[in-house]
Amino acid sequence: MSNSRRKNHLTKKQLKELNEKVLAERERIQNKLNFDAPHKKMTATNSGRDEVDAANDDILRHSELRFATRESLYLKKLLKTLDLMESSEYGDCEDCGEHISFTRLLARPTSTMCIGCKEDAERSEMQSVHGRVSKSLGKSISVS
Ligand SMILES: [Zn+2]
Repeated sequence: MSNSRRKNHLTKKQLKELNEKVLAERERIQNKLNFDAPHKKMTATNSGRDEVDAANDDILRHSELRFATRESLYLKKLLKTLDLMESSEYGDCEDCGEHISFTRLLARPTSTMCIGCKEDAERSEMQSVHGRVSKSLGKSISVS
């Protein structure tokens, strides 16, 4: 860390603790993604199933896919966090530039916003998610 001249508000010990947490998370997610991948293709070769099975399969595959996407997004976030830790920018709010508290980072090492900015962002996120959820529910639960 010779190129980081700017002072980080976290101590070396705190940074190390957070870094280890992120590394452990990265390993967990990577294992999970690798483990999930191989059996996916096999479901397509099933024959002689009725429509309900097929529908359940679709729902299952759909949720698996969503899950995998979410996991890989999380993985990307973890990798970005590790990058940030290499620089001196880790622990600063990307919105207002304030320091993110160590307790907050400990609970969520991938945080890139302070609690105030995050709450603002979540409020507007909630509004858009709400509209999306009710739309997709109406589509997928037409099996009866
Ligand atoms: Zn902020």
